[in-house]
Amino acid sequence: SAVAHDAACIFCKIIKGEIPSFKLVETQYSYSFLDIQPTEENHILIIPKHHGGKLHNIPDEYLADLLPVTKKLVKAIGFDQDGPDGPGYNVLQNNGRIAHQEVDHVHFHLIPKKTKDAGLI
Ligand code: 5GP
Ligand code: ZN
Repeated sequence: SAVAHDAACIFCKIIKGEIPSFKLVETQYSYSFLDIQPTEENHILIIPKHHGGKLHNIPDEYLADLLPVTKKLVKAIGFDQDGPDGPGYNVLQNNGRIAHQEVDHVHFHLIPKKTKDAGLI
């Protein structure tokens, strides 16, 4: 499918470099960067280079890139440790205000966890 951009979207502007970001991994289909208001150290956002508000708006070839990139980032930050104990991480993706989405361009949160808290975010 054709690449879709929304000139008013802050994440489309980040992809284009019109808003600065701390870039991590960039591929043909995705862009990842540090969250500006991290809930944990190295809180990362992974976004498709296709504008769409919710997961069901994103073409499969873009979605297919996001989890391998997430895996690469987990390894890059040293959180690729096996077993139930020790450091872990959450991968989260919100769709719609009712589900706590604030930016209407699909994004996956990668949130490293060193200590256990009361609940999921
Ligand atoms: P949501 O609640 O939509 O799932 O999460 C949106 C996330 O985007 C929030 O964690 C917020 O801190 C982050 N965010 C919003 N605007 C910017 C920005 O301009 N730059 C960066 N790096 N992150 C942003
Ligand atoms: Zn966008």
